[in-house]
Amino acid sequence: MKSLISAKAQRFTESVIREMTRLNNVHGGVNLAQGFPDFPAPEEIKQAAADAIHRDVNQYSITWGAKRLREAIAAKTKRFYGVTADPERNICVTCGSTEAMISTLLATVDPGEEVIVFEPFYENYGPDAILSGATPRFVKLRAPDWSFDEKELAAAFNDRTKAIIINTPNNPTGKVFTRDELVFIANLCQKWDALAVTDEIYEHIVYDGLKHIPMYTIDGMADRTVWISGASKTYSVTGWRVGYTIAAEKLTNAIRKVHDFLTVGSPAPLQEGAAVAMGLPDSYYEKVARDYLERRETIYQGLSEAGLVCSKKPGGAYYLLCDIGRFGFPDDTAFAHWLVKDIGVAGVPGSSFFNDPREGHGLIRFTFCKRLETLRAACERLKKLSTRPGGSVRP
Ligand code: PLP
Repeated sequence: MKSLISAKAQRFTESVIREMTRLNNVHGGVNLAQGFPDFPAPEEIKQAAADAIHRDVNQYSITWGAKRLREAIAAKTKRFYGVTADPERNICVTCGSTEAMISTLLATVDPGEEVIVFEPFYENYGPDAILSGATPRFVKLRAPDWSFDEKELAAAFNDRTKAIIINTPNNPTGKVFTRDELVFIANLCQKWDALAVTDEIYEHIVYDGLKHIPMYTIDGMADRTVWISGASKTYSVTGWRVGYTIAAEKLTNAIRKVHDFLTVGSPAPLQEGAAVAMGLPDSYYEKVARDYLERRETIYQGLSEAGLVCSKKPGGAYYLLCDIGRFGFPDDTAFAHWLVKDIGVAGVPGSSFFNDPREGHGLIRFTFCKRLETLRAACERLKKLSTRPGGSVRP
């Protein structure tokens, strides 16, 4: 009998992250699983979006993004990175960076071509590779500092390599790729005529004096980089679905075509809100990073006291990947399910971030994009963990 479900759709499962949110709701836990803020978005950008609805900006915008938003993206890109992107030729607004990634892969990769993915990886990249027909090749980021082995990366490139996905600052590890690392990757992309597809959604969430460097700014990479970012994380509007790509005209044209037939466009009134967001002063961006630093310190302390040790404090983004080995559970899923049910805190089983789930069996990821009260409530509940064998490890 014919299967009514495509072979592609059968090759991946539902999102474990969203599943943990569902379980959290069943058990009334504190949700440190899914990366969406529980604090309000800036007032002025909400007002701008609401005004746009009242002004009747309620029909399709230009498929590749409202002119005003593309101009705001170009201006922000110039302000922060000194890069000139032409709003008419180099920018495509998408439904979040999620759609930017799949549109980019569908626009650039042919079935059978290889895409290099650093592992552990944000769980969407697995299904993205399957949907676009790409063959993923995984290269390890290794604790404690989540660096890659240069020889291993060089060996992953070959004639079939079409692209490498680079997520910096990184989810789930918190790694911020250094200039030297980016230059090393850039040289390989140039040697093998491959694209760099960068997911820079956490570009403004960096700590400890680290600096986010876009691959697009590395010598020789502007023509072979698809630079992806969006409004979700920087402005706490994950539900708006506004993301974008910046790339050379030829690449942008291909991405715009795919994007048009996938979604037509990102919500028009919310693009107006995002345009105002992009223009927020530097002080807004500084405060975002400062506030996240305070949240990082709070949760790091609580997790460490409970015995959930993280190999290194994240340098960017808002996740901590913790070791659960000492608690003696058969695997990460058993631990995560027990934690949400019996302790009342939801995290994401580490296996979600690996191609071979066994490699994540000793890990759990927590997000800290939550109010300090929420994080403190989670820490309070986690104190119960310290009475178990393996708990109570002082930071
Ligand atoms: N990329 C990474 C690395 C993420 O962690 C997330 C959300 O958690 C996204 C993309 C999704 O971003 P968007 O809301 O722009 O689709």
